[in-house]
Amino acid sequence: MNAAEKNGRRIVKERSGGYCEVRIRGICTGRAESVHHRKNRSQGGSWAPSNLLHLCGDGVRGCHGWITEHPALSYDNGWAVRGCNVPAEEPVFVARGLVLLDDTGNYKWQKEG
Ligand SMILES: [Zn+2]
Repeated sequence: MNAAEKNGRRIVKERSGGYCEVRIRGICTGRAESVHHRKNRSQGGSWAPSNLLHLCGDGVRGCHGWITEHPALSYDNGWAVRGCNVPAEEPVFVARGLVLLDDTGNYKWQKEG
């Protein structure tokens, strides 16, 4: 694990407090178990905290699995970010509302709609 990954994982775990950040109704199991890249690493997505979400499940279970299996809805909610976009500039729906993620582990609240 390189320094960027280690740093990204540490910050996102502090940000989440150990709970799934997305909380998809009917899917979420509560406890965060894995780190999701909003922009895939294959599209240039980094370990910057603005590109990460701490989610329940993994690639096939829980919110992490649901996001993997539902790309269109995940783009709409900011849970996934297209390769041409910058994660820090793409609002994301977390459990408590619509936010921008920064690289220091903070939420910046956004007005909805
Ligand atoms: Zn969840």
